[in-house]
Amino acid sequence: MRAEIIAIGDELTSGERLDTNTQWLSQQLTDKGLEVMFHTTVGDDMAANVDVFRNAIGRADIVVTTGGLGPTADDLTRDAMAEAMGVELVRDEASLEHIRQLFARRNRPMPERNERQAYFPAGSVPITNPNGTAPGIHAQATKPDRGVCHLFALPGVPAEMHEMYTATVSPAVLALSGEPRVIRHRAIKIFGPGESQLEAMLPDLVRRGREPRVGITASSATLTLRITASGVDEQACLAAMEPTAQEIYAAAGRFVFGEGDIDLHHALLNELGERGETLATVECCTRGLVAGWLAEDDPEARVFLGGAVMPNVDSVAAVAENARSEHNATYGLAIGASDADGAVEVVVSDGQNVQHETFTWGGHPAVVGPRIAKSALNVLRLKLVREEA
Ligand code: ATP
Ligand code: MG
Repeated sequence: MRAEIIAIGDELTSGERLDTNTQWLSQQLTDKGLEVMFHTTVGDDMAANVDVFRNAIGRADIVVTTGGLGPTADDLTRDAMAEAMGVELVRDEASLEHIRQLFARRNRPMPERNERQAYFPAGSVPITNPNGTAPGIHAQATKPDRGVCHLFALPGVPAEMHEMYTATVSPAVLALSGEPRVIRHRAIKIFGPGESQLEAMLPDLVRRGREPRVGITASSATLTLRITASGVDEQACLAAMEPTAQEIYAAAGRFVFGEGDIDLHHALLNELGERGETLATVECCTRGLVAGWLAEDDPEARVFLGGAVMPNVDSVAAVAENARSEHNATYGLAIGASDADGAVEVVVSDGQNVQHETFTWGGHPAVVGPRIAKSALNVLRLKLVREEA
C-alpha cells in the first residue's frame, strides 16, 4: 500500500514553522508496513491545494493531510478536498451539535464561521476531535483508474493530530492494509571504506526491489547499512534479515564495529575493556576530539587513562610511545601532521611494535577533524581485529 502525506499551511511554506507532523506521520505509517512515496507541503491557496489533492488521490492508496481544518477563511482543506473529489460540501448535523456544545460548555457564543467546520465532502465521515473544534475527515475518493483512495484530513495542532491519528486513523489503516505486519530494522555500523567502495564490496545489496531492503547512509564518515524487513512477527523479521547480515559480515566484516546505536569510540572502549587493556593518547591536529569522546564514555578511566593535546611534534612515534609509558597503558595512540603535505600521521605503540598509518582526508574543516579522529581510532581497532583473527 502506498501512502502520501500533505502538510497544509502558509506558516510551513514560509519557513516560519517546521513541519513536524509529516515526520511523525511517516514514522507511524512506515511502522505499519506502508510505503510513503511523497511528502507535500502546500500553502493556504485553493488552486494549489486542489492540485496537490488530485495528484495524491491519483497515485496513493492512503493520503493523510494535516492543517487547514480551522474555521477561518484561510482554512481550505475541506473545500479543496471536495473539489478534488468532485463532490459538494454537505452539513453534518451531529458535528454541528458537537461544536455548539463545545462553545456552550465554555460559556461562549458560537461564531457563525465555526459552522464551516460542520461541512464535509459528500459521502465522507467526520472524525471526532475530543480536544478541539475541528473534526477530522475520512473520505473515499475515486481514482481516475476507478480504484479507491482513502483520504484522512487531520488538524494541524500536533497534539490533536497525534491523538486523532491514534484513535481513528491507525486502526483504519490497519484494517485497510489487511494482515497486520511488523517492521524491524537492523543497523550495521561500518568505518573504513567510503560509500561507493562499500557498495562495490556488496554489489547485490543495494539493488532496487531487493528483499529485505538495505539502505546505506553516511554520517561523519561512519556508514550505516540499515536492513529493513517486514513479517508477521518479530521472529519472522529477524529470520528474514539474518542471511543479509551474514552477507555483509562476510564481505566487510572487519570494518563492522557494531550494530544499532553505537559510535566507533564506544566500540573501541568496549573491545579494550573486554581484553583488559588500556589506552593513552596524544593529539596534535584534532583539538582533543579523541580524548573528549573517550573521556565522556569512560568517566572512571577504566580503559582511557589520559590524553594530551599539543602543538605539532617532530616525531609522532616518539610521543605515542611516551604517552603509553607515562600512563603505563597497553597502547599509546598519537595523531600528528606528517612530513607529506596536508597528510596526517597516526601511530599506535604497544611498547614493542610501532604501527604507522598516513591519511590524507580532504573536505570541509567541520568534517575533516572528526574524520581524522575516527581514522586514528580505527587504526587501533583494526590492529585488535587482526590480532584476534
Ligand atoms: P485548528 O484551527 O483547529 O487549530 P487547523 O487544522 O486549522 O486546526 P492550523 O490552523 O493549520 O490547523 O494549525 C494549527 C497549529 O498547528 C498552528 O500553530 C500551526 O503552526 C501548527 N501546525 C500546523 N501544521 C503543522 C505541521 N505540519 N507541523 C507542526 N505544526 C503544525
Ligand atoms: Mg493553517
